[in-house]
Amino acid sequence: MNNIDWKNLPFGYFKTDYNVRCYFRNNEWGELEISSSEYVNIHMAATALHYGQSAFEGLKAFRGKDGKIRIFRLEENAKRMQNSAYGIMMADVPTELFREAVLTAVKLNEKFIPPYGEGASLYIRPVLFGSGAQVGVKPANEYLLIVFVGPVGPYFKEGFNPVSIQIVRDFDRAAPLGTGCYKVGGNYAASLRAGERAHHEGFASVLFLDAKEKKYIDEAGPANFFGIKGNKYITPESKSILPSITNMSLRQLAEDIGLTVEKRQVSVDELGEFEEVGACGTAAVISPIKRILDRDTNKEFLYCKDGKAGPVSTKLYNMLRAIQEGEIEDKYNWNTIVE
Ligand SMILES: *Cc1c(COP(=O)(O)O)cnc(C)c1O
Repeated sequence: MNNIDWKNLPFGYFKTDYNVRCYFRNNEWGELEISSSEYVNIHMAATALHYGQSAFEGLKAFRGKDGKIRIFRLEENAKRMQNSAYGIMMADVPTELFREAVLTAVKLNEKFIPPYGEGASLYIRPVLFGSGAQVGVKPANEYLLIVFVGPVGPYFKEGFNPVSIQIVRDFDRAAPLGTGCYKVGGNYAASLRAGERAHHEGFASVLFLDAKEKKYIDEAGPANFFGIKGNKYITPESKSILPSITNMSLRQLAEDIGLTVEKRQVSVDELGEFEEVGACGTAAVISPIKRILDRDTNKEFLYCKDGKAGPVSTKLYNMLRAIQEGEIEDKYNWNTIVE
């Protein structure tokens, strides 16, 4: 497969040769199965379809400067999938099974891992869902774990470019004691209407506020929010935020370069005080934000006044990318090297 245009890959589905599957039946996980089909045959009464028993993960593999393949923070993604499974009462995926499924999917599709230096990577998508039939509202008694992969380009075609987002109050992504802290499909369904309206109105994403008081920042669409001010990296604390592994990594790197990290409620009123703001997640690492418009009050917050990402966001972004691509020391052992 030497005819992939690595430089112009979108962030989207890409057919590869194989995916890996494992069923949980009769209270135990079966053998890993390798499939070359893009389809699954499931019962029409599967709980995933009716009652939203479905969770996923997203992580990436990179081809490094030294030619080695690195998967970023696999164990953290395994833990988070376990937490999601707990949250919506699905079968627990042991870390060893998660690791084996991910490594197998990556190795079998090695030719789809983009070369070093193109800004592209191999996106890994594990998905776990209730495949067993149920008509009453109950957890399924059968689950399917699938791991598929595909090459993706940098999230932003033009590179590390600042985006505009809008504050919305007429939609909530998640409730304080709901499922916002789990990476489950239903949260995404709940965010689609707000997200599509934002795109239609010319914004990259929405900024959701806390559902109860509409006072504090929750999440920037499918990404965590952070702000930089006075040598501090500040990110919201809330029960309805999905704990981003990128954010966790950036907090560590921020400390390493001498910033103070604060994880606390961040009120909308504080937006005017930040020197830099950004959204973070696996897809883009950091999306610098240049403009936040409050859709209700028309109040506007502007950043990146020279059109470029701020110096702290740029530095953090470069450090994280350098660790992922094996350019600098991985001192916290975040990478799993594929042998
Ligand atoms: C996946 C996700 C993120 C980002 O998490 P990463 O582990 O950094 O990729 C942030 N918010 C939501 C709602 C998510 O689903």
